Amino acid sequence: MHSTVICPGSFDPVTLGHIDIITRASGMFDNVIVGVFANGEKHPVFSMEERIGFLQRTVGDIPNVRVIGCDGLLAQCAKDLGASAVVRGLRAVSDFEYEFQMALTNRKLNPELDTVFLASDASYTYLSSSIVKNVAYHGGDITNFVPAEIHDEVFNRIKALKG
Ligand code: ADP
Repeated sequence: MHSTVICPGSFDPVTLGHIDIITRASGMFDNVIVGVFANGEKHPVFSMEERIGFLQRTVGDIPNVRVIGCDGLLAQCAKDLGASAVVRGLRAVSDFEYEFQMALTNRKLNPELDTVFLASDASYTYLSSSIVKNVAYHGGDITNFVPAEIHDEVFNRIKALKG
């Protein structure tokens, strides 16, 4: 039985699509660890502390959800945290190839680690952190994309990047 799972991601920033997956996972497993990864390949707009703070303000009240910062390999972090499965959201078939590759790599590195894919709510299939950043950068409305608790801070920070 999977009692502890990890939902990894960059969450730069957290979107309503992420919240949907985390909430679904919290109803399926005893403990859900939301692991915020630095992600060397991407250049995050928000610092690790900010991204963790945004998540704490939005899913921090769910009793079996814990938000932490993670560094290094997901397969190793999961082991250290006692998580027996990784939960990832799938938006479209186009996500699948990359996700499948990651799942098998993680299992190779940590044979006890499974990956569980949850389908996102149909209304969020188009949504990503990149979309949020693009829209806010140009001053567009992100009300339907990010949780209300963090909307103003996210919008103002990203819009200010344009100068
Ligand atoms: P990463 O940088 O590792 O892809 P993200 O922060 O972009 O991390 O996403 C974290 C997780 O949330 C991934 O499993 C991703 O597929 C999922 N996810 C992102 N956006 C959505 C969405 N709109 N609906 C469902 N799942 C999503």
